[in-house]
Amino acid sequence: MRAICLAIILSVVNVATARDDDHPNIVFIMSDDHAAHAIGAYGSRVNQTPNLDRLARGGMILTSVFATNSICTPSRAAILTGQYSHVNGVTMFNRFDSSRTTVARLLHAGGYYTGMIGKWHLGSDPVGFDHWEILPGQGAYVNPILYTASGEKTYTGRYVTDVITDLALDFMKNRPRNKPFFLMMHHKAPHRPWEPDAAHGARFTDRWIPEPETFWDSYETRTDALHENQQRVAADLTRRDLKLQPPAGLEAAALTAWLATKPDTVTTTRNGQAVTLTGEALTRWKYQRLMQDYLATVQSVDDSVGRVLDFLDRNALAKNTIVIYTSDQGFFLGDHGLFDKRFMYEESLRMPFLVRWPAAIKAGTRSDAIALNVDFAPTFLDVAGMPVPADIQGRSLLPILRGRTPADWRTSMYYRYYHDPGDHNTRAHYGVRTRTHKLIYFWKKDQWELFDLVNDPFELHNLYGQPGQENLTATLKGELLRLKQAVRDDEQLANEQLPNGVDGPVANLRGK
Ligand code: CA
Repeated sequence: MRAICLAIILSVVNVATARDDDHPNIVFIMSDDHAAHAIGAYGSRVNQTPNLDRLARGGMILTSVFATNSICTPSRAAILTGQYSHVNGVTMFNRFDSSRTTVARLLHAGGYYTGMIGKWHLGSDPVGFDHWEILPGQGAYVNPILYTASGEKTYTGRYVTDVITDLALDFMKNRPRNKPFFLMMHHKAPHRPWEPDAAHGARFTDRWIPEPETFWDSYETRTDALHENQQRVAADLTRRDLKLQPPAGLEAAALTAWLATKPDTVTTTRNGQAVTLTGEALTRWKYQRLMQDYLATVQSVDDSVGRVLDFLDRNALAKNTIVIYTSDQGFFLGDHGLFDKRFMYEESLRMPFLVRWPAAIKAGTRSDAIALNVDFAPTFLDVAGMPVPADIQGRSLLPILRGRTPADWRTSMYYRYYHDPGDHNTRAHYGVRTRTHKLIYFWKKDQWELFDLVNDPFELHNLYGQPGQENLTATLKGELLRLKQAVRDDEQLANEQLPNGVDGPVANLRGK
């Protein structure tokens, strides 16, 4: 009798420990600067992404995932640590302290076989990975070099997205079969300088891309920050960005200077005739050149995602592998006349986030819950059945993915950008976004912007200081202060050196 009972108990335990969703594999695919509004599943008006859409159809699409600091290196550090920039130490392009705890180290310690392939861009070597092959810095689109723990290899004649995909598939093929795996596959594309491979480039050469609604935004009612920024399609794309051909004979420093020039006149060919463009016509032409190249590099990433999904299908791994597609932040696709990120405006703040896991996520679902890049690390740990350390600031998205958003889920988020002036003369700022409003504080200038996201989704009408907005403004300032305290970004600010005559930001919040 005892033997029978023990057998029953053991069989129950076995069933309990061998569920399909125990210790799933995790494939985290992240591109660089891929805006959600250049993905079909998010309603793109500018391109088609059949493989990303296939991923979305098989799982969940999250519409409100935001970067806590919309720029490459800080977002990567936030994803690895589950901590905000002021806590993990990477506020700008500073080197990541690789002695810190990361989700890769934790998963590795928890029995996962871990890999990192592609763009790393954190200044220090990856730690916590059984296998890594990374681009140095930004890396190159063509003939890329990849570093490993033991050396480097140049992939002559190859395109970077294809190389990263090949190496990621090799990682999965060569994995030990007795462990679940965690793969970070990080594409360089579609980051500047937007160099497509020949086949995709040719497909987009003559394609006309519609301009966004806010392409000719005059910045009326907005603060100095938009007026001062240098990430404008009209004025800040270089000859290198626009792929203009230098005159014969230019070399070395002269060639570099020529390519770095931001042209205000371009002579091109139209219907066999030479045409010189200036002013609005030139701005429209620059937008087309930018977007043709950007979207062609996106297409290589879409192909890559298709290859990964095919591999998982062919190897019976699809059901118990959670596949995530995201980007380190969003990007302005000519929105507000811009082409970079950094600002807290929607196009830059929003990250795409598509996730498929047939064992646990219902296909064809969608969530509008506010999620953050600091949530990714605790989500991976939760998915792996591992505890989330107390110093991780994000929260696991797993209940949301399973279709049960907790009643106490966040209804606002805190953002802070530091890199001022940076490469694009963008003002430092921080702010709060709720489901309906956004308050931004350009704290070095003591200037504010307030937007009603329901009635003004393109953020064209700054309501700050307008009659009738007093109560809303006070409420949002209170929420901003609450969030600052919750993420522990208040003490540091109180001690910062500010321009003469400007109160400390926290004092401002309390006093106004
Ligand atoms: Ca980026």
